[in-house]
Amino acid sequence: MHRMHVIIAMDPHTIAQGARSIKDALVKNLELAGLSNEIKVVETGSLGIYNKGVVLVVFPDGIYYTGVKIADLSEIISEHLVKGRVVERLHYRDIPEESRAEEKAPRFGKQLRVVLKNAGIIDPESIEEYIAQDGYEAYGKALTEMKPADVLQTVKDSGMLGRGGAFFPTGVKWGFAAAEKAKEKYIICNADEGEPGTFKDRLILEGDPHAVLEGMCLAGYAVGATMGYVYIRGEYYMSIARVRRAIEQARKNGLLGKNIFGSGFSFDIEVREGAGAYICGEETALIESIEGKRGEPRDKPPFPPSVGLWGKPTIVNNVETLATVPQILLKGAAWYKSLGTESTPGTKVFTLVGNINNPGLIEVPLGITLREIIYDIGHGIPNGRGFKLAQLGGTTGGILTSEHLDLPFDLVNLRSIDAGLGSGALLVVDDTHNVVELVQNFAEFFNHESCGKCTMCREGTGRLVELLHKLTSGCGAESDIALIERLASAMMKSAFCGLGQAAPVPILGCLRYFRDEFTALAQQKRQQIPANA
Ligand code: SF4
Repeated sequence: MHRMHVIIAMDPHTIAQGARSIKDALVKNLELAGLSNEIKVVETGSLGIYNKGVVLVVFPDGIYYTGVKIADLSEIISEHLVKGRVVERLHYRDIPEESRAEEKAPRFGKQLRVVLKNAGIIDPESIEEYIAQDGYEAYGKALTEMKPADVLQTVKDSGMLGRGGAFFPTGVKWGFAAAEKAKEKYIICNADEGEPGTFKDRLILEGDPHAVLEGMCLAGYAVGATMGYVYIRGEYYMSIARVRRAIEQARKNGLLGKNIFGSGFSFDIEVREGAGAYICGEETALIESIEGKRGEPRDKPPFPPSVGLWGKPTIVNNVETLATVPQILLKGAAWYKSLGTESTPGTKVFTLVGNINNPGLIEVPLGITLREIIYDIGHGIPNGRGFKLAQLGGTTGGILTSEHLDLPFDLVNLRSIDAGLGSGALLVVDDTHNVVELVQNFAEFFNHESCGKCTMCREGTGRLVELLHKLTSGCGAESDIALIERLASAMMKSAFCGLGQAAPVPILGCLRYFRDEFTALAQQKRQQIPANA
């Protein structure tokens, strides 16, 4: 029995900062100090704290240390681990200085951790630690006390909306597949996250892979599926390794396989690695990719819950959606509905990025405002700069400005301003940036990622880049702005899939709120032309 645990975040970000060698040095120093039997060092997934170097947490005190170097270890051991005195110079709190009520302030302030409840707490490579946190209890309850229809009804009653970006009701989607009469049905976990700045699914998988597997098992039981696939972006090497290890552990413990615990339910899960195409996050392109074909979207209808992988009924759910399901089953639909707002229950995980003092992975109840996220959780904007805009939901997300700082986040409010919750990034931009350069950057990304299947997107994204580049390079005219608007509107109406339809969203959002910056660039060019030219 150890009197203390030192938890060290081990994700690609902290490993790059030296977390692995700091862990090895800490273990060695504890051995030399004769403390190995009293203090245990444990690896965990991301703690959600970014740009602050290597992060350690000392339990049971719940003290977070950031920017830890090997040279700091002897002080942490002699002061905190031996004498119980916190090393203040390394002590990190998620609460801004001015709103701390000393140690009474909750660790995560206005965050509410449902999906991330185990992230940074348990060792993601240990099924025992997941089980100790009520892991697989919902699955056990479903197999022993509930019929598949009960599981389906609970998810429907919770009002949960899928977190992949479309926010379609999860229970309704499951109901379509459950109603299909087919011997084979599939559950796919869509972990092909690929937008710049969005990496919340990666951190969920790295921090709590069993929660996602348990969600897949429950989905499989509810709809009558026999097989599940986790489709993970190939660059997410740590997610892939941890999910594979979790699958092996679940199989060894009889949680996957045939006739699970004599219930008559058989279900297994495998990993499929994506090759890094953004379009493979679109569910039908993802299915094509698993089938070994080029990742391009299919015609819809038929939709995957009726005709999906290998022509069989298939549910494609996002990582965050699946990780939430076990808790809905354990705590009930009413509990889930009590979180968030009436139109959008629950919480949302975001990567908070851009010009923000405290970037990282956050989970907040819906109904929270942009002001609370930027100033209470994000600790404001660096260098005393002003807030210019936020892009909510990823690179295709809508644009929010200072007039939206106090708008509670939910689908009804956000749709009223042509925005949405999107996939999961919240980009904060300060007043030093020019919006035309910003959206040119987005347009270049979509031009690169367009799969080329339809003309409107293949050609349209390229023409948008050209027109925006004309403006930023001083060669544009006001007529180019009108052309950008016409082209963007046409793409939204006629591109084949969500990529081409959503690519113009931030451009039109910036035109709505910052048109003067587009016009200034166009006029700047006109002024440069000599009168006799
Ligand atoms: Fe491909 Fe773009 Fe057309 Fe979608 S909209 S099918 S990504 S070319």
